[in-house]
Amino acid sequence: MKKIAIFMMLFISVMASAQADTKPKNIIILFSDGATSSQYEFGRYSSALLRQQSFAVTDIVMANGQYQLMKTESANYFVTDSAAAASAMSIGYKVNNGAISMTPDGKTPPTIMKVAKEKGKRIGLLSTAPIYDASPAAFSVHAKSRRDNELIVNQYLELAPDVLMGGGSNYFLPNSFPGGKRQDGQNMIEAFQAKGYQYINTPEQLNQIKSSKLLGLFADEDLDYEIDRNSQETPNLAQMVTAALKVLNRDSKKSTNRGFVLFAENENTDSAGHQNDVAALMRDLWVFDDAVKVALEFQKQNPDTLVIVTGDHETGGFSPTYGRKNLGPAGTANYLNVRLEQLQQIERYKMSLKVFSDQFKAKTKQGASNTELNAYLNTLLQENFPGLILEDDLREKILTQSQLGSNSNYLPANILGLAIARQTGFYWGSSGHTPAPITVAAIGPGSHLFKGFDDNTAFAVKLRRLMGQK
Ligand SMILES: [Zn+2]
Repeated sequence: MKKIAIFMMLFISVMASAQADTKPKNIIILFSDGATSSQYEFGRYSSALLRQQSFAVTDIVMANGQYQLMKTESANYFVTDSAAAASAMSIGYKVNNGAISMTPDGKTPPTIMKVAKEKGKRIGLLSTAPIYDASPAAFSVHAKSRRDNELIVNQYLELAPDVLMGGGSNYFLPNSFPGGKRQDGQNMIEAFQAKGYQYINTPEQLNQIKSSKLLGLFADEDLDYEIDRNSQETPNLAQMVTAALKVLNRDSKKSTNRGFVLFAENENTDSAGHQNDVAALMRDLWVFDDAVKVALEFQKQNPDTLVIVTGDHETGGFSPTYGRKNLGPAGTANYLNVRLEQLQQIERYKMSLKVFSDQFKAKTKQGASNTELNAYLNTLLQENFPGLILEDDLREKILTQSQLGSNSNYLPANILGLAIARQTGFYWGSSGHTPAPITVAAIGPGSHLFKGFDDNTAFAVKLRRLMGQK
């Protein structure tokens, strides 16, 4: 018995050290900005009931892989922004809100993408936000401020990611061009092309990629929410991930090939949280999950791939719960409980609260009278939010463009978000970020490192270790 016990202990320790040395060739980081367990659980529940589909984030990556929780406070605040959170995850040090991988004393330890490049890996950056936005920027380059857009794009040219795709053509074009915003007069699209990049700007061009270096810019600024997206004009995240994996995995059989690191972000899950837009959030969680499924399919063909699903912070204090059906007596008989019926109601909405706000604000700027505005509001609601009841107190706030409260920064979106909550139970605690710990789910070689409760700076340490850097 004793011998068996010793043998078992030896076996376990050999297995553990073998596991510790496991280094994936490829790493795919799928990043849902603003999302953590409450959003993913909503994605799982709505996906099962409305699309009769499993939700890969919870049902595959978390269930069959590993997961951990990560705390997110920044160097200067309890509640982080995307820049500080992604910086901590990239360089392994805390930075102030708004900084891009630069510590409060001005240091710039190497980013994850710089380490990957040093290790001979190909690198790819994708986002539904402008590609120079806080999260992809902090994973790759350095800047004092997340607003230093020109500087960030200049550093991208120098870093030369093999794939760069998303929105944000405005800071690639001089301000003399339509939609261009660069003050320095440079045309960075041409600069990338001169470096051998194929430039694309439509979804169908994703099927015509010939080069091993790709720049894809599909909007001046953000790519549309899935609920608003025109599939002829804008690709979704799953389509971009599919194309990126083809480019990054070229010549994968060659002995010199060291694999790649891909960072793919859905920013719309954060924006939907800010706007308190449950219908937009649902569609964007589904399309994010479709991208996770693409990554898992790739992993099946290329088992030396680690797939990580994570984010930076929670947005909106997303809190579906039972409120009262009406202002009648409290008690369970008057509870509004969330189930299929409420999901079906939000599934009928056809427009994001952002587009609703933009259209309504445009009408107010035309100097419409109160009666005209009210009629316009009714038309917008009937056509795009069938079945939604807007109670008088909230209607009044929209028409008079009043504040909802000091915790509501996105108006009138947040007001309509509250109307939806009253009727469906999908409440929100804030229009901003919250310090809810963030889930890191991982599956594949190296996933064993992601368990327990850790700081977001540990993410960088683990990634470096997985790439063979101390
Ligand atoms: Zn945000």
